[in-house]
Amino acid sequence: MKEFSLIDTYFRDVSFQRKDVLLGIGDDCAITQIPAGQALATTTDTLVSGVHFLPDADPKAIAQKAIAVNLSDLAAMGAEPAWLSLSLSLPNVDEQWLKAFSEGFKELTEYYSVQLIGGDTVQGPLAITITAQGFVAADQALKRSGAKPGDFVYVTGSLGDAGLGLDILLNHAEVQSTEHSEFLLRRLHYPTPRVFAGTSLRRVASACIDISDGLLADIKHILNASQCGACLQLDKLPLSKAMLESVDRDAAFHYALSSGDDYELLFTVSEEQKNNVERVLACSNVPATCIGQINGAVGKIDLKHNDESYAYSQTGFEHFNSAELTKEQSNQAKRA
Ligand code: ADP
Ligand code: MG
Repeated sequence: MKEFSLIDTYFRDVSFQRKDVLLGIGDDCAITQIPAGQALATTTDTLVSGVHFLPDADPKAIAQKAIAVNLSDLAAMGAEPAWLSLSLSLPNVDEQWLKAFSEGFKELTEYYSVQLIGGDTVQGPLAITITAQGFVAADQALKRSGAKPGDFVYVTGSLGDAGLGLDILLNHAEVQSTEHSEFLLRRLHYPTPRVFAGTSLRRVASACIDISDGLLADIKHILNASQCGACLQLDKLPLSKAMLESVDRDAAFHYALSSGDDYELLFTVSEEQKNNVERVLACSNVPATCIGQINGAVGKIDLKHNDESYAYSQTGFEHFNSAELTKEQSNQAKRA
């Protein structure tokens, strides 16, 4: 199968059709129209086989995760997603794989009303790069640099599920309940980008980031950009029923603090805006939990449990020290 017929068969009609796409797939460039008064937010993420997913992973999940991690970045900026470009590196033309990949792609792009407007297809090791673009008024973008001492720290959803899911996949954790194990693996393979929560937080949050590398690693980006510190209450961390019923308390804290791939939003809110958080998030049906507060101790993260200091070392956890680090884990560790 030649490149052109491959693109025609699997990608030309793969997604939602938007009115602001004046010229889509098929020419040298796509031509698109940005709404008046809006600025363009652009982000790119690559998933590489053997690094970000196992080589035999379900192509539907690969497609949806590749989209989700990009939409999550737009969400963290408060941007409304619009357009995607897809760069595919494929070792060979496996039509069954492409069919499942493009079906997964179609499902998620229709759900979020985003259009695939172009890309590139090359032969090489399996890797998927997506560029996502969306709209946000320039003065409403949720940057990492807006947190102030006294602001409250919030997270959406629950934390650590994807990390425990990865450990189940790699046989490093055993979860008896199949219901819990399915939930945790779903959280790993099909993360939910918090798109509607992100746009609703535009006038409410002072800073925002999505949690891709773990709570501690990602809050550090906010603290560095905002030149402040934070105190976090571990007893407030939102943990799923599956997490709570599968591992002990300290392991649950470890997953919530240090494991990646959750794609929840971490945001800060001033005292004046605190009452608005629940109200604006009610429409998006996403729970948010206050887990601590920003302070002036630049770059420091103070961990508390029931108001007492909680000693925690990111590298102190047993299986992260083991000699048989998997590629996925060593990469996660590097990213953290
Ligand atoms: P060029 O040589 O000008 O880069 P290509 O032959 O690579 O053009 O691509 C032809 C058209 O198909 C372009 O509009 C390009 O954006 C689109 N395209 C190529 N690969 C993909 C893909 N994987 N998904 C979506 N569109 C693609
Ligand atoms: Mg090309």
